[in-house]
Amino acid sequence: MPEIVGNFVHIQRLSSVQSDLIERLNEFQPNVLVSYASVLEALAIQSNKLHLNNLRQIANISEQLTPRAGKRIQEAFHVALPDHYATGECLLLSNVVRRTAARHINADWLFSRSSTRTTAPFRRAVGQKGLVTNLANTVQPFIRYEVGDQVMMAVEPCSCGSRLPRIDHVEGRAAETFWIFDGMRHQLVSGGIFNAAVDSLKEIREWQAIQTERNRVNVRLELLPNAAMTPTAVRTAFLHALTAHELPGYVTVEVEVVSALLSDQVTSKFRRMISEVGPPTIRRCNLAYRRGLQGLHRLVSYAAHVARRAIVAGILVSTWSSSVSSWPTTTA
Ligand SMILES: [Zn+2]
Repeated sequence: MPEIVGNFVHIQRLSSVQSDLIERLNEFQPNVLVSYASVLEALAIQSNKLHLNNLRQIANISEQLTPRAGKRIQEAFHVALPDHYATGECLLLSNVVRRTAARHINADWLFSRSSTRTTAPFRRAVGQKGLVTNLANTVQPFIRYEVGDQVMMAVEPCSCGSRLPRIDHVEGRAAETFWIFDGMRHQLVSGGIFNAAVDSLKEIREWQAIQTERNRVNVRLELLPNAAMTPTAVRTAFLHALTAHELPGYVTVEVEVVSALLSDQVTSKFRRMISEVGPPTIRRCNLAYRRGLQGLHRLVSYAAHVARRAIVAGILVSTWSSSVSSWPTTTA
């Protein structure tokens, strides 16, 4: 923080896991509360214990703020919650227009481009990432720095009149995907399927999906306090919702309802998608490719076999029925 600002701002750093967090916040009476979305949401659930009389704004950092979490936090604290999008390497990446809640990229200060050959910055593509060039940072400039987020840009003009590129939504880290295998090839499953299933159930506060085998996922659900549905009913409804959102049937999903989902111990960030399997290796891809070729070869051989039989049958039937028609329209 610049020295001139430091004289006017008092900052208190607190840990999300310290036992007296609520008491310390009540004692400090912050104007601005900055934290990870998962911590802000946990505080929102305990808002009856918090008495933050001077709070004017809440800011989320590092984690994706889901619409559900944003709604829950705003209903609890009744203050502005701009969904600012930035990275640690480029804090000025975007600004939020308060009136419209639109997020505009500060393209007059930095360049942001998709790693694909498109003219639009951050054009969405699964597995492809945005590149940021930040020359405003004179201490450590970044050139074509790869941002591991999947960001969808808006194409319509913004009602605020700004012509700077606008973010439609952030789908989260590109790493928040699972590779599954349908027997022939690998497919990518986005966390959006799990998000959509969770969104259809009001009882769930948070979720975490852990891919333990290529086609096996353990989902852990934390319910809201006083949830109306029983854990068994939530499990059943969640599995139905996953099917409705087209999670392939060959993926086995086990659902566990837990009392609390905790952040990663190393980074203190909450991770919704964890793969213990990782992406397919080149060897596996080649295997899938070879299996695909073998399958294609079998299909061509079978087609040739059927064609030979058809021709033979056609000649026989033709000879037998030559008095009726010159060539049969169907073959046995
Ligand atoms: Zn705008």
